[in-house]
Amino acid sequence: MSHLSTHEDGALLRNVATDVSTPAFFRFRKLPESDRVVVTNLEGNWAVLGSADFRAFVSGTLDPSSATYATLRERNFLKAHHDVDAARARIERRRQHLDRGPILHMMIVTLRCNETCVYCHASRADMDAVHTDMTPEIADASVDLAFQTTSPSLTIEFQGGEPLANFPIVQRICERAKKKSQETGKTVELTMVSNLSLMDEEKLAYLLEHKVQICTSIDGPHDLHDKQRKLPLAPTNEGSAYKVAEHWIRRINEAYVTAGLDPNLYHVEALLTTTRASLERWKEVVDTFASLGVRSMFLRPIDPFGFAEKTARVVEYPRSDYLAYYRQATDYILEKNKSGTQMLERYAAIFLTKILAGEDPNFLDIRSPEGAGIGALAYNYDGSVFSSDEGRMLHEKGDDTFLVAPDVRTARYRDVVGHPTVRASVLASNLDGQPDCVDCPYNPYCGTQTAHNHKTLGTIFGRMRESSVCNVHKGIQDYLFEKLATADAETLDTLHRWTTLRAREHFLQRPE
Ligand code: SF4
Repeated sequence: MSHLSTHEDGALLRNVATDVSTPAFFRFRKLPESDRVVVTNLEGNWAVLGSADFRAFVSGTLDPSSATYATLRERNFLKAHHDVDAARARIERRRQHLDRGPILHMMIVTLRCNETCVYCHASRADMDAVHTDMTPEIADASVDLAFQTTSPSLTIEFQGGEPLANFPIVQRICERAKKKSQETGKTVELTMVSNLSLMDEEKLAYLLEHKVQICTSIDGPHDLHDKQRKLPLAPTNEGSAYKVAEHWIRRINEAYVTAGLDPNLYHVEALLTTTRASLERWKEVVDTFASLGVRSMFLRPIDPFGFAEKTARVVEYPRSDYLAYYRQATDYILEKNKSGTQMLERYAAIFLTKILAGEDPNFLDIRSPEGAGIGALAYNYDGSVFSSDEGRMLHEKGDDTFLVAPDVRTARYRDVVGHPTVRASVLASNLDGQPDCVDCPYNPYCGTQTAHNHKTLGTIFGRMRESSVCNVHKGIQDYLFEKLATADAETLDTLHRWTTLRAREHFLQRPE
């Protein structure tokens, strides 16, 4: 050691420097059009380094007195200071949801729908197709199976078609869920995705009384929404799907205020489906959502499940165009926050919660393994049960790959969640077993979807280099890390705020 302190041996000194600066396990990626490099480790700590710092880091020659060294040491990137317990604790925290069991139970109460959307064929039937209404017997069996989940809390989501078209079954499920909650001691949340065009005051009063959260779909500005979502003219609607949705969004928000609920937390959220026509209109899309009081925008690209090939040619687009749209729209949302409009982008919020807060918000499509079967189940109107809603949509087109029970009335919970399809999906969506994902720095925050892989690539494992989901996830995380490295303090503050999830306690129905 005397050699070291007298600085007599440069070679040895270099070796000593290498020892204290040797990297522990890490993954990296150069950010596009930048000289910055993202590094992450197994447990999801991260840093964005300039190219000189990155070279020093990988070669084990980082100056121990530098700020970068201090950051990397604190974030567990250096072998000499590696804290295995801290790494394990962070991984455990981010994976807590894996212990729970299916939390999201989607109930397709009918395929009937009074709107015709350009991107939706597989999930809808005309209003006279009453044979696609869920029967009372199937509704009861679906609720009973859902409450067998090992999760202490669950969400029942009413879907369709248009769920309001089979309102008596919605009511039956609400009432049975409340009863089962008392019997099992489980907390339940009820949510509904509706186009709102069949809403009336009586139905609204029921939904409010039974604490059903209401979510709708808005495609963007008035003309775009009406062009993509056709509502037949009726005495109550002027033939405009947008006007009807706008009316009920405002009416429901008013009702929440009347009930004494904080409007910042309780308001109608709206889902967006991004079609080719939306891409150039990103600013109007964001402004429309803001004007409707929607606080959370989910800039999702279109998925390939609902429509036929010939529709794809009209509504689809290259994912590079989508990513340009995403960046512009999210920049604009961030700008709006600066001028006092509180809004968030949900993709960003999901990834940032993992990146910044080290927690997983348990969004079932972006987790590893995915939520199909072990986090969610879809109960079809005809009694068949699927490991995901996408799997259910494939069934409507004759593909039963994701069928996990043919008849909910005879299904056994253990057989459903332990079904070979669920097991295969867990293996296939584990990013630690995926070529490319194993080397990708976004591995700790990301997820792949077996139904999407199956539909688009012909294999539940997928091939990430050809996967449009991977492309989108990578592009969004590139954007977020670039922001984290370069944004001003106010923007960083907003990005941190997006990771704070406030539970909507009013909607959590606990057993009395
Ligand atoms: S899906 Fe793509 S972006 Fe996500 S971890 Fe895998 S390779 Fe990375």
